[in-house]
Amino acid sequence: MTTPSPETENEQANELDSALVTARRQLERAATHVDVDPGVVERLKHPTRVQQVSVPLEREDGSVEVFTGYRAQHDDVRGPYKGGLRYHPEVSAEECTGLSMWMTWKCAVMDLPFGGGKGGIAVDPKSLTVDETERLTRRFAEELRDAVGPTKDVPAPDMGTDAQTMAWFMDAYSMQQGETIPGVVTGKPPVIGGSYGREEAPGRSTAIAAREGIRYYDREISETTVAVQGFGSVGANAARLLEEWGATIVAVSDVNGAVYDPDGVDVDAIPSHDEEPEAVTSFANELDDGDSVRRLSNAELLELDADVLIPAAVGNVITADNADAVAADIVVEGANGPTTFAADTILEERGVPVIPDILANAGGVTVSYFEWLQDINRRQWTLERVNEELEEHMLDAWDDVRAEVDAEGLTWRDAAYVVALSRIADAKETRGLWP
Ligand code: NAD
Repeated sequence: MTTPSPETENEQANELDSALVTARRQLERAATHVDVDPGVVERLKHPTRVQQVSVPLEREDGSVEVFTGYRAQHDDVRGPYKGGLRYHPEVSAEECTGLSMWMTWKCAVMDLPFGGGKGGIAVDPKSLTVDETERLTRRFAEELRDAVGPTKDVPAPDMGTDAQTMAWFMDAYSMQQGETIPGVVTGKPPVIGGSYGREEAPGRSTAIAAREGIRYYDREISETTVAVQGFGSVGANAARLLEEWGATIVAVSDVNGAVYDPDGVDVDAIPSHDEEPEAVTSFANELDDGDSVRRLSNAELLELDADVLIPAAVGNVITADNADAVAADIVVEGANGPTTFAADTILEERGVPVIPDILANAGGVTVSYFEWLQDINRRQWTLERVNEELEEHMLDAWDDVRAEVDAEGLTWRDAAYVVALSRIADAKETRGLWP
């Protein structure tokens, strides 16, 4: 297996709550700002279905172990369910349900014709050989065969799964259906129908959200300093693009710590997590202590006096304990759920805008949508086209959310949920409740 490439892991919960509790609370909060039929809100609190399957695997020593897999399908009023498959020991029906709800909001805020899904297997992927992972994935695809499909439910990579996992899943599904059906999953390698630019897309959309935030708050990007936590797929791509667009990236980090240079860190000189794990710390270790560069902890990075802070590593890093110390003027959520509910309230009271994950890092699911279109049409897009269309989708979503911020004085997070809920509620009311 190569490095996990989560599409849409979403773990925002306060220190005590599960993803499901947080997802329901966010729905209720958004419902107070939207004129929506309470029956629709009630329906959205519950997933359409949550399937549980047993996935038997023959281990390398010939023994058989049975793992449990899930697929939660929250809502498909706007189109097929869409969301990742994760391989992680803590995967559960409840977690998948909560995360599938998050996917419903994310797809709706981006105006994609998808609803929310999420699934996975409760397994430690590091405990499996490559062959075992392949067998497990193929059997999982077979167990979910009736539930998924390009017009029903389209999985993608998530924690512990990657493009190769999606290739096996697509192959197993296609073999059983008797025809090649690339659109059953997204996040595949381009040679079998994957999209160019998908890997970089969440970082690119995060950079676009940061750039628009900088503009909205009347700043010049060339005079803006940015601190980025995490230098993986999301963090490194966002940092490199923002630097290209003129911002000064004053700090980046990996799991072991951060490097800080008020004159700007050369982000192109540091390999990303995918290219070389923990390269930020090795880069920092090679620096000459005489110059302007300093080493910091990840906690110190979050409190740096930079104009923009982009947490792009893991969830729950800005909490009630450090939200008062966040010195940035704008926070852009590259990671899923980096800000806890309590921290969000503190930042709101302090007037620090937080551009939420469901908007900022939604480039991943947006380019998954482009991949699905390419698969259905059997026509691959160039990287230039993918990036142009992503830019367009991001700006449209940004404008829709900004309109709510301006008109209603909402936080960016509440505004994003209001846009999403309004679209879903409109579709539900228009279609009606059958029978
Ligand atoms: P990644 O594995 O490529 O990189 C993660 C980076 O964070 C690495 O530099 C790692 O060293 C660092 N890191 C890990 N644990 C840390 C910790 N405790 N403190 C500080 N740094 C730490 O991951 P990624 O794909 O860039 O994903 C990052 C976040 O973005 C996750 O929350 C993920 O769910 C979210 N996300 C990813 C995608 C995607 O498609 N890659 C899409 C949407 C959201």
